[in-house]
Amino acid sequence: MRGILRNIPKIELHCHLDGSVRPETMYELLLQQEEDLHVSDIKEFEELVSVKEECNSLIEYLKKFSYPLKVMQRKENIERITYELLEDLSIQNVKYVEIRFAPFLHMNDGLNFNDVVESVLKGMERGREEFNILSNAILICMRHESLQNSLEVVEYGEKYLGKGVVAVDLAGNEQDFPPEIHKEAFELARKKGYKITIHGGETGAVENISKSIELLYAERIGHGIAAIKDPKVMELLREKNIYLEMCPISNLQTKAVDSIENYPIRKYMELGIGVTVNTDNTTVSNTSLEKEYKLLMEELNFSIEEILKLIDNSVEAAFISREEKETLRKKIQDELKELGL
Ligand SMILES: [Zn+2]
Repeated sequence: MRGILRNIPKIELHCHLDGSVRPETMYELLLQQEEDLHVSDIKEFEELVSVKEECNSLIEYLKKFSYPLKVMQRKENIERITYELLEDLSIQNVKYVEIRFAPFLHMNDGLNFNDVVESVLKGMERGREEFNILSNAILICMRHESLQNSLEVVEYGEKYLGKGVVAVDLAGNEQDFPPEIHKEAFELARKKGYKITIHGGETGAVENISKSIELLYAERIGHGIAAIKDPKVMELLREKNIYLEMCPISNLQTKAVDSIENYPIRKYMELGIGVTVNTDNTTVSNTSLEKEYKLLMEELNFSIEEILKLIDNSVEAAFISREEKETLRKKIQDELKELGL
């Protein structure tokens, strides 16, 4: 089974660039910058940048992002990190990925908005040329930042729409900063033609899911774990055909669910809600799509047919045109046929 999971063509829709930097690259760049790391080798460094099972909360999880953000303040580093992520994903036979990042987090040391976005887009272009992997970018607005900040992300990002940027997202601490604070920015995003996905219901607040859909026009929801608490919210997801970007290993680490047995994915599928499976952060969560699928098969008895259905859901939920979806679907089906599936 392992071989099959490794080789099947995959789609990744929820992947944070800063949470998916190769540890070796981070280590090399931090040493170059003469940062004091208090570790003796790369092995010890890896412990600093990814969580273990004993991670206690989302807050603890989010601390891991301080290291990648230190090195992602230069154009060449951002381009290299994007390119290397695409190389790593192409080796895992990922055919299409939506990479998300918050431009303002990379503007602490002289870069402007355009520098950051263009560096990611350059890395994506090189990845496409060299590894034949397709990608698009999602610009993140941070919840704890001001509405003004989110409006700027939408305004400044507009010129890259259709040139690699497809959508905007809202991420960060959802307990203290509910979606409605940023309503105006997402209204503007919708007018400008962005697709919209919002992190919602990752840590308990079920009302954030309905607010994201009704007030912020979310077409997809990141995580959506809390929907299980409210049949009306589950009905809203089903009725509006809102896909969930679920990230099982990350959700277990941040204690969004207490155990895999209580992970609501199968219940959602039975209710007809569109579900996709993603990694969230390959480095911080020390995961891959293969590991995510393996967990579902081993712990929740998913069949290979169900895994393939999840991948097909991802094609359907991707922020690409109908024509692009059909091309992608055909590519996947051809490869599956070759694998005897
Ligand atoms: Zn996320």
